[in-house]
Amino acid sequence: MNIQVVGVIGAGVMGIGVSQNLAQTGHHVLLLDISEEILERAKQEIRNSVRFQGFFNKNEKSENPDDILNRIKFSTNYQLLEDAEFIIENATEKWEIKKDIYSKIDAICQPNTVFAANTSAISITRIASVTKRASQVIGIHFMNPVPMKPMVEMIRGYHTSDPTIEIAKNLLAQMGKECIVVNDSPGFVSNRVLMLTINEAIFVIQDQVASVEEVDRIFKTCFGHKMGPLETADLIGLDTILSSIEVLYDSFNDSKYRPSPLLKKMVDAGLHGRKSGRGFYIYQ
Ligand code: NAD
Repeated sequence: MNIQVVGVIGAGVMGIGVSQNLAQTGHHVLLLDISEEILERAKQEIRNSVRFQGFFNKNEKSENPDDILNRIKFSTNYQLLEDAEFIIENATEKWEIKKDIYSKIDAICQPNTVFAANTSAISITRIASVTKRASQVIGIHFMNPVPMKPMVEMIRGYHTSDPTIEIAKNLLAQMGKECIVVNDSPGFVSNRVLMLTINEAIFVIQDQVASVEEVDRIFKTCFGHKMGPLETADLIGLDTILSSIEVLYDSFNDSKYRPSPLLKKMVDAGLHGRKSGRGFYIYQ
């Protein structure tokens, strides 16, 4: 089954990357968000990102950003999603927001449309429970920046069927990606481990054990990681980190997932990382 039309919900960091990747691999994208202003910014970011890729991939034939953008329809109208064969949802990491979205799209989309949640931590089984198509709901945890990351974590919810997994794998292959399939549990594998690490690194800063640069350098030089936990936090977005660790805290009822007060303070202060221009580091 060759999927042609994909609905992408949420035009933030991840929705932009997913839409660009889909359009660059020949798909038609319906990109939804809640305001025209957000969609206009998304259009500019995709244009810049395609140009940037062309600049770095000098050996490959560079793509015209307008050709990519022509394959993306930017809209605030959910009704468009009745034409989508597959949905990738990338809205804000808040259960109340996702819950409303899934009950809405369940009523609008065709009965055979598959829903993929690109969530950091929310249980796929819980998301599926607000739809009448639990066997067609799956988790696809994309990595950031999406067009450059060839691997994703795929999550099998309690009711996710084998055909749904095959359809999702097929779409990922069309997007040039492979996956590792894991069972559903809050945070899955990646974020159950990563969010704890990042949160603890923020406690280390709060306790003045070391500077931001020193913490990141320890992970890079001692462990060979490409990025340290605080740089990673800035890339993901501190608001998304806070929401994810709160989901883990609520889901497991385990105090080891309590968010660091410094993380909360930074989010309240608008220091959301790269996307806001400032987090643990300053970005121009
Ligand atoms: P973001 O804050 O950059 O973007 C979220 C977007 O969702 C915003 O543009 C917001 O306006 C939009 N939105 C909110 N309510 C909506 C609605 N009802 N309908 C349509 N759009 C709506 O967040 P992000 O970093 O792109 O994360 C999106 C999802 O992807 C989250 O669930 C997050 O946990 C997950 N995720 C993030 C990363 C990462 O590195 N940032 C990686 C993997 C998964």
